[in-house]
Amino acid sequence: MSSAITDTDLLAAADGVAARAYAPYSSFDVGCAVLARDGRVIEGVNVENAAYPLGVCAERTAFARAIAEGYRPGDFVVAAITASPCGGCRQWLHEMGVERVVFRNGGRVVTMTPDELLPESFDSSNL
Ligand SMILES: [Zn+2]
Repeated sequence: MSSAITDTDLLAAADGVAARAYAPYSSFDVGCAVLARDGRVIEGVNVENAAYPLGVCAERTAFARAIAEGYRPGDFVVAAITASPCGGCRQWLHEMGVERVVFRNGGRVVTMTPDELLPESFDSSNL
């Protein structure tokens, strides 16, 4: 049951999965754990590449994995991330429709909504 998983639990899951990051160039391991409405937790890690710009963030691997498994935007409740999400991932978090995002930033744990992370955002209504 999804209510059994707290934001603290989810951030701990993100911390755990970060060890599986593939970050040989930056050595900056990032983990992301996303709680879906059905109670499942989908995890992602950053995956780097020798062609640096091709690397993918932990948030995006988690959501890409979830989408490939059949989830859709709106199916997610919380995304927990071991680091502050980059600008591109803030756009993804907005698109995926999570209710809130929990992340570590400078030793603090921050909770924000996608709208707070990316105000005045571009979305499908702009197309
Ligand atoms: Zn990112």
